[in-house]
Amino acid sequence: MTNTDHQDIWAYESAGCAPTEWERWIDQVESRLGHDVDGDQAEDGYSLDGFHDMWKQGVAPHDAAASVRPARTCRSCGCTDYAACDTIVGPGAWRVTFDDGPGICTACPAPS
Ligand SMILES: [Zn+2]
Ligand SMILES: [Zn+2]
Repeated sequence: MTNTDHQDIWAYESAGCAPTEWERWIDQVESRLGHDVDGDQAEDGYSLDGFHDMWKQGVAPHDAAASVRPARTCRSCGCTDYAACDTIVGPGAWRVTFDDGPGICTACPAPS
């Protein structure tokens, strides 16, 4: 047997392996999101670890995907939904939001 033959057999065998339940689950989440699931929890609002926790809790793939929203960014200070300014009313509040996404957070003065 040549070395190439051996590699072909290895590839065939590993492709024939059934994916684990977790792999099938995260594949469904990823295809619903339409982008990579390996984000930064603080900046993107999702991470592979976070998804793994949801999977362990029995969350359905479409619910896990629906929990991910694109972060809105404050046009004034640059904070986001997931890294919001601390204000007297707590983080994550928006003074103004615009139709095309980003807004002005409650820590910033309203635009004139
Ligand atoms: Zn702001
Ligand atoms: Zn802010």
